[in-house]
Amino acid sequence: MKLNVMIRTLHPRNLFRISRAARGEVQNIFLQLSDQGVTGWGEASPNAFYDETARNVVSLLNDAASFAEGLNIETVADIEEAWAESWRWFAPSRAAQCAFDLALWDWLARKRGKTVCELALGAPPHPVRTFCTIGISDELELQRKTGELNGFPLIKLKSDALADLAPVAYVARKTGAKLAVDANCAWGEVNLREVSRELAQLGVLFIEQPLPPADDGLMPGCLAASVLPIMADESCVTREDVERLPGRFSGFNLKLVKCGGLTPALAMAKRGRELGLTPMVGCMLESSLLIAAGIVAAQQTDYADLDGAWLLGDDPFAGLTLNQGILRPDLRPGFGVEPER
Ligand SMILES: [Mg+2]
Repeated sequence: MKLNVMIRTLHPRNLFRISRAARGEVQNIFLQLSDQGVTGWGEASPNAFYDETARNVVSLLNDAASFAEGLNIETVADIEEAWAESWRWFAPSRAAQCAFDLALWDWLARKRGKTVCELALGAPPHPVRTFCTIGISDELELQRKTGELNGFPLIKLKSDALADLAPVAYVARKTGAKLAVDANCAWGEVNLREVSRELAQLGVLFIEQPLPPADDGLMPGCLAASVLPIMADESCVTREDVERLPGRFSGFNLKLVKCGGLTPALAMAKRGRELGLTPMVGCMLESSLLIAAGIVAAQQTDYADLDGAWLLGDDPFAGLTLNQGILRPDLRPGFGVEPER
């Protein structure tokens, strides 16, 4: 397989800039794998929290050209084997591994004239109800964002060390949506027993990642104190992490770019269920390509938080739609998305 790597700066729509301090733009990597007249696409959305940079991912992918050259992919088992072997080339970058894994899935599905979902799970993808996220916002921003999300069934609010419940109450009152609150590791000083009770009364379904991963040892106490389920995000990166979650978290937010692609994401969802955990699939700021791969994983999870492409002002891929919180995939072969001309 021939490999071609591109880097592209993506910008959020004005309304959803992550914060006014940051420009909010991201650099994502797009990978083409071509063989026998078929091209498969992959993407990575490197995130600094996991020590990933676009530059690093690009150079690791380029270094893997000879690995790609020698690959012969004919079955799903070949993809799984290539995924395991690829770690030798991509370690420690799960983002690079993700882009490569996605391109293999897209390539094989296109070659067979099937959706990736049919190839992986035996059936075409169903539409997915997704959370849409409201970041930390001042009052005016919160009003405007809430207005835009009116009628959406699921809304996630980001929280910080202040654990301000007023925005949650506001969104609950205005929209009637089911809510989730993502504490982004910042609730070390928060009384989880009290706060979870108040959030439950506002219709919140779960709390995400109250403490940083370094404090996972405190999570059994937190889980016992909370009246709401608690999902891991930063505390659950890879397949191995899932094994450590029972007794600490109720479920986990897997992301393709954290764990190394669709191959491990499907395995994590399956293993999570076996352990009695609630799997969910989330995203970074990413194009319709990575979101379309997330939709495949979402067929196996209880929740999806796949608003990344919808938040973009300049999505370089087209094919799926997000209307009123419902993601509808295209049923063309592969992930069902094509680059915008
Ligand atoms: Mg999160």
